[in-house]
Amino acid sequence: MGTGQGRERTEAVVARARAAFAGGVLGTFALPDELAVIPARGQGSRLWDVDGREYIDYVMGSGPLILGHAHPAVVAAVAAEAAKGSHFYTPMNETALRLAERIVAACPCAESVKFVNSGAEATFAALRLARGFTGRDKILKFEGGYHGHHDYAQMSFTPQVPAEFPEAQPDSAGIPKVLAGQVLVAPFNDADAVEKIVRGHRDDLAAVIVEPLQREIPPQPGFLQALRAITTRYGILLIFDEVVTGFRLAWGGAQERYGVVPDLAAYGKVIGGGYPLAAVAGRREILALSDPARRRDPGYVCVTGTLNGSPVAAAAGLATLAELEKPGVYAALQAKGDRMRAAVEEMGRRYGLPIRGMGEGSIFVFHVVKDEIKDYRTLQAFADRAFHQQFGAELIRNGIFVYPGQKNYISLAHTDADLDQTLQVYDATFRKLTAKA
Ligand code: PMP
Repeated sequence: MGTGQGRERTEAVVARARAAFAGGVLGTFALPDELAVIPARGQGSRLWDVDGREYIDYVMGSGPLILGHAHPAVVAAVAAEAAKGSHFYTPMNETALRLAERIVAACPCAESVKFVNSGAEATFAALRLARGFTGRDKILKFEGGYHGHHDYAQMSFTPQVPAEFPEAQPDSAGIPKVLAGQVLVAPFNDADAVEKIVRGHRDDLAAVIVEPLQREIPPQPGFLQALRAITTRYGILLIFDEVVTGFRLAWGGAQERYGVVPDLAAYGKVIGGGYPLAAVAGRREILALSDPARRRDPGYVCVTGTLNGSPVAAAAGLATLAELEKPGVYAALQAKGDRMRAAVEEMGRRYGLPIRGMGEGSIFVFHVVKDEIKDYRTLQAFADRAFHQQFGAELIRNGIFVYPGQKNYISLAHTDADLDQTLQVYDATFRKLTAKA
């Protein structure tokens, strides 16, 4: 595993990709050429690259693959559905309807559903629905929160020099300058700051959008409850971005786990079982604004797309949910995450590093920090970026595929033996990096 084999095929693909793609990559996840991993196939917790190297995968497609790669039930469902025709653009199809009914039954806020193709589209639609429903334009998001690549979401996700709250800082060029004025930014886990901003902008504010688990930072007890109370008090909608947490932190997602019900929620990743599918779900009267029968009404909100509700993606989602519904699944996912968090903290004590196991449930990452991380700024203040780059590079070289410094997604396919093997590599890596220091 890991080292040993040649890298000829990988190097050839990397060289061609440099010509075809900006930076030689599909999105924003880039690795140094010597660590490039070009997948040939995946099965369960493992992926194999084009030169035959084997990895235990903790990227897991950035979260959708909660059952692991190529789960037989998902593969069979997709194959059966695709054989019947991939796509129709009929007003409805039964496979998408079955998935919508499952989401409504599982997710506390979901009275009705609208399908889209990506998490970004889901948060975009949720924000547009909130504006349509309230008749107000502004939204409040949290510094360091990620809601996709669209113009309203690419604000103060990774500000280099944080501004004074609630000023928004665009994360990308090409966003109309006026939009920064439509987004207010607050610190995560600070209900007093939110209350102050909301009170000052109550007449303009349509919604507060939050990742209930912001990246790997858990909500402090009472924070989400406070958001619910503040938004209700001022007649503003509360949107949970459950693209990561939906059907992962619990069957009913973060809403179930933390006991707070928003007005709208965005779903993605797990509900598509590794295929392009996402959804906005929530209160019926809000979703009803997107009913095309209202097209001539001033309150009509357009949510549409050629491939929305793809039956093939919905079949993958349904097969995934059927596995997740089995008894003991969420306890098993929790136990795997808890094991990783406890093990890295124990290694920290042995190697004299202040390690914190972060994340919740099967989402896991560690940071080298003494003090509690409660928001973007406390995380930045201790930025262990260089350590993470070195640590991640060692993991990848030794057959553990990670996105250095980012969340690890543990799947149901990760066995105790996989975690044992992973932790041995972690141990050796901590030993090597602390010996060097
Ligand atoms: N919201 C959250 C919380 C996410 O983590 C992501 C993607 N990582 C998105 C939205 C956007 O989803 P997509 O990449 O499917 O557009």
